[in-house]
Amino acid sequence: MDLRLTSSEIAFREKIRTWLQENLPPGWGTPSYRAPSTPEEQVAFARKWQRKLFDGGWAGLTWPKEYGGCGASVIEQLIYNEEYARAAAPDILCLKIGLSLVGPTLIACGTEEQKRRFLAPILRGEEIWCQGFSEPNAGSDLASVRTRAELNGSEFIVTGQKIWTSVARYADWCMLVTRTRSDGSKHHGLTFLLVDMKSAGITVRPLREMTGEAWFNEVFFEEVRVPCANVVGQVDRGWDVVLTTLGHERAGTTPHVRLQAEVRRLARLARDTFRGQETAAWVPVIRQRLAQSWIETSILRLSAYRNVSRLSRTGVPGPEGSILKLFWSELEQRLKDTACELLGMAGTLGQEDARCVDGGFWCHELLWSRSATIYAGTSEIQRNIIAQRVLGLPRG
Ligand SMILES: Cc1cc2nc3c(=O)[nH]c(=O)nc-3n(C[C@H](O)[C@H](O)[C@H](O)COP(=O)(O)OP(=O)(O)OC[C@H]3O[C@@H](n4cnc5c(N)ncnc54)[C@H](O)[C@@H]3O)c2cc1C
Repeated sequence: MDLRLTSSEIAFREKIRTWLQENLPPGWGTPSYRAPSTPEEQVAFARKWQRKLFDGGWAGLTWPKEYGGCGASVIEQLIYNEEYARAAAPDILCLKIGLSLVGPTLIACGTEEQKRRFLAPILRGEEIWCQGFSEPNAGSDLASVRTRAELNGSEFIVTGQKIWTSVARYADWCMLVTRTRSDGSKHHGLTFLLVDMKSAGITVRPLREMTGEAWFNEVFFEEVRVPCANVVGQVDRGWDVVLTTLGHERAGTTPHVRLQAEVRRLARLARDTFRGQETAAWVPVIRQRLAQSWIETSILRLSAYRNVSRLSRTGVPGPEGSILKLFWSELEQRLKDTACELLGMAGTLGQEDARCVDGGFWCHELLWSRSATIYAGTSEIQRNIIAQRVLGLPRG
């Protein structure tokens, strides 16, 4: 892969950089700026900011123009991601599932009607999506889902339970993996549905995380009616669609940008944080760990570029996405441990304590980073995928 940018890509970088400088919401632009505070305010803010991105021509960069996207290249998307993180622009958690997973899945597997109905509202921040995959006994072993969908005329009747469903409380729609047949192998007989979260028979119960927030939910479905027009892909062949979604979840990311910005930030903090008479910048173990973190984020950058290169050549994310997911999620945790080693006890104080550092950012991140090796497939599952699909070892 040629890592040099063309003149038009350099001009593209300038354009997004200038737009972000001129349009960032007031107060944004520093990595530790954390506002607004309640989840409801965050959701309202995210919708508004996403609308601004859309109106500015910066939503759905690689999505086709006919569905409201920009038709840009994968490289331009990478440049956009780098500039977005560099500017410390808002992290829009509640819209991520729609933008990163539902959109690419529908573009690859949806019907024309589904693309026309669902893609533009995602880009405009009008509709929030959740991902109804995991169940109490089907996480890593996702093909074991038991939420039933029974055909009844022109509808499916859905009954069952999902768990760990992020943002379900605020979601307008859910992409749901259901079982439509129980005979044969468990990978067959799954059907992928788009479910209106306002349908009768859906109950959402929040679950609190160790950060104190409650983005997680349990979602119960009791005879929920879903039109057959909302099937993505083929009935009983939903596993193919699931693999498309998971591929995008693991490969289509550029986590190095945010992590490199955090290493730079920690290096600055090391110069300002005193350990006895001298700053942490002089403590050998801190210097070693920061240098090591920089090396690892640089490796991560090359791994992300390799995935982008593959995606731009083939149009589909490959199993190599698991290498990226495994490496960044474990690095994420090491980096947050380094931050706490550097900051000492102040690094473990939350935003409610006046002595906290950066508004409690590092404490929140230390806690949140534990989830990185679980969501989008645990580290063990990524190693299994690499063993089988990259190295060709037999299925364990
Ligand atoms: C922050 C966060 C957000 C999430 N958001 C969503 C969401 O929006 N929607 C959704 O559907 N799910 C979501 N999840 C759930 C996530 O996908 C599951 O937690 C994950 O797939 C693991 O499943 P599990 O929790 O059931 O653990 P299990 O599958 O029960 O795994 C338990 C342990 O056993 C290990 N293990 C399991 N199978 C194997 C194997 N074959 N080989 C080796 N080791 C194995 C695992 O690695 C793990 O350590 C989220 C999770 C987190 C942490």
